[in-house]
Amino acid sequence: MTKIIRAAQRATKQQPPASFTGTVYADEVVVGEKPSRMRATRVTFTPNVRTHWHTHPVGQTLYCMTGTGRYQEHGKGAVELLPGDTVVIPPGAKHWHGAAPGVLFCHLAMSEVSDTGEGTKWLEAVSDADYMKKPG
Ligand code: MN
Repeated sequence: MTKIIRAAQRATKQQPPASFTGTVYADEVVVGEKPSRMRATRVTFTPNVRTHWHTHPVGQTLYCMTGTGRYQEHGKGAVELLPGDTVVIPPGAKHWHGAAPGVLFCHLAMSEVSDTGEGTKWLEAVSDADYMKKPG
């Protein structure tokens, strides 16, 4: 049956501080019902805030909506993200994403859990030195 979920039914949630360097807000877009494994969340990073390093079992797609962001895959340089950009992250790739220094950043994060229900695997924090390196 078709379902219409109204914005007013869902409050913005603050993301757990264990996986981010500061305040991050999450607005759930959809959590698919079986057999769907689709998950989409609008994520707003406050200035200077980024995720810790992490991996996704079946990858992740980010669609950049507002502000200026950064993305880095481990072993490569960071890249700047602008509204309208899409980042397709392969399964198991260690990476982080977040706001550029001094500005808000909002992206739509789309991912699926694995066959076995496995989700994001969180790793260590991104150092200030890594974060402050100018993107290529
Ligand atoms: Mn990610």
